[in-house]
Amino acid sequence: MKITAIDSCVLTVPTSRQMALEFAHHKLVVAEIATDEGIRGLGYSFIFGGGGAESVLVYLETRLKPLLLGEDPRSVESLWEKMYRGDRGVRRVGIAGMALSALDIGLWDIAGKAAKLPLYKLWGAVTDRVACYGSGGWGKYREADLVAEAERYAGMGCAYYKMKIHDPDPLANRKRVETVKKALGPGVRMMVDVNQRLDVEGNIRQARQLEDFDLVWYEEPVSSDDNFSCALVSESIAIPVATGENHYNRYEFRDLIERRAARYLMPDVCRANGFSETLRIARLAAAHGVQVSPHVVYEISIQVSGAIPNGFLVELMDWMPPDLFEELPLCKDGHIRIPDRPGHGMTLHKGAIAKYRSAGG
Ligand SMILES: [Mg+2]
Repeated sequence: MKITAIDSCVLTVPTSRQMALEFAHHKLVVAEIATDEGIRGLGYSFIFGGGGAESVLVYLETRLKPLLLGEDPRSVESLWEKMYRGDRGVRRVGIAGMALSALDIGLWDIAGKAAKLPLYKLWGAVTDRVACYGSGGWGKYREADLVAEAERYAGMGCAYYKMKIHDPDPLANRKRVETVKKALGPGVRMMVDVNQRLDVEGNIRQARQLEDFDLVWYEEPVSSDDNFSCALVSESIAIPVATGENHYNRYEFRDLIERRAARYLMPDVCRANGFSETLRIARLAAAHGVQVSPHVVYEISIQVSGAIPNGFLVELMDWMPPDLFEELPLCKDGHIRIPDRPGHGMTLHKGAIAKYRSAGG
């Protein structure tokens, strides 16, 4: 089997309520990989808020795509190495990591389809059903918006809800968390997300205000470049730290693990160099007793979670319009059943590219 063409573009996809209060849209860099045997793979990188999507597309098209044309798409590991080592001067973090991720996801989609297996089974299934948490709670939400969103997820059976703590005043964040906690009652546990906004002292001060809420985790406390400070926060606060959505490869995750900087790691398959590297990160975490909770894109992250013994929750953000994907996996009783379709199981809705393709993308 040989790769004959890769068609790529940027989709700009508007968000639905409540997320539209914070983000008008997200973007997807899509790569459709065609083969001489008729099997096609869908790869994409989900660009949260859309920033940098056009750059991801240019790197994918000009530097990575030429490395794949004519190759056997089932040799995913070999092609991953070829892409990862393609430009010595461009590290596969940030823009380039997102571009490689999209293609790796598309290659695995073909490998699964060729094997007639969903990826989680190809990788040795652990479970066919993954628990999820409702995620949102953005800083621009009023308290009524927060509660409405949290209750919507609870109505889907989610036993966990995550919200942002973006107010500069730690007491204001405490008040918002308390409001949601009271509305949800004892059946739902919560997480909070700093999104890299504080320094070490700021986090210690903030976490102290939240320790009595029995939070599952305290997420991304400091800049994702600064594992040293993340470790300081982790050893200084009483809430387990989670991080990793802005870490890009096994070496960055190894550093987090060695520093004991987090108890939960959150690789994003669309950033952390695709399914291939995310699986390596997950196995490295398993060897150190650390749990893995993949960041967003739950519709394909579930394939990874279904194949690892140390998976803990996938992140459900219900922002997508119904005409983006065919057969989006839905949350039922707080769980998402992994599709039994070959590959990662996701297909763009037939009109999605025509409808959402960005001008010039
Ligand atoms: Mg986060």
